[in-house]
Amino acid sequence: MVIEVVILKDVEKTLSERGISVDNVREVIEHGETTGEKIYLPAENKFLAKKVIGKATFYTMYSPLEGKFTLHSAYAHRMSMKEPITIVTAETTDWVCYKCNEKLVRSNIDMEYLGITRAAPGISCPKCKLSFIEEYVAGKTLVVAESLLEKKRA
Ligand SMILES: [Zn+2]
Repeated sequence: MVIEVVILKDVEKTLSERGISVDNVREVIEHGETTGEKIYLPAENKFLAKKVIGKATFYTMYSPLEGKFTLHSAYAHRMSMKEPITIVTAETTDWVCYKCNEKLVRSNIDMEYLGITRAAPGISCPKCKLSFIEEYVAGKTLVVAESLLEKKRA
């Protein structure tokens, strides 16, 4: 499968700030497209996929259009998700699981990093439990937690 990714200038800047390569992006989109493990916003033709590559989990938000994939954003976290995922409320989000056609709900996800576990808010499919961390959580909460835990160990 050839994944042709369209990356606009401002998104390119985000990628370099976050240390995410175009190869990472392509790999995550390919994973989402081939496995069907992705979620989407029906009103916006936007998909979110994730993949663990090396020691981090990478996320891409993209729109398929005429055989190409326009990237809206990409982010990553080094903490790893632990099972089981706890669904905290029946509060649904606008995201829909591509495989189950179910609306994702808010969840509590145990995230492990350097042997320490911290709970983080996530979104999960109530049926298959496919779970995602949203960009604002990865960019704020998890980045802070990761650097604190790194300092603690140092
Ligand atoms: Zn599902």
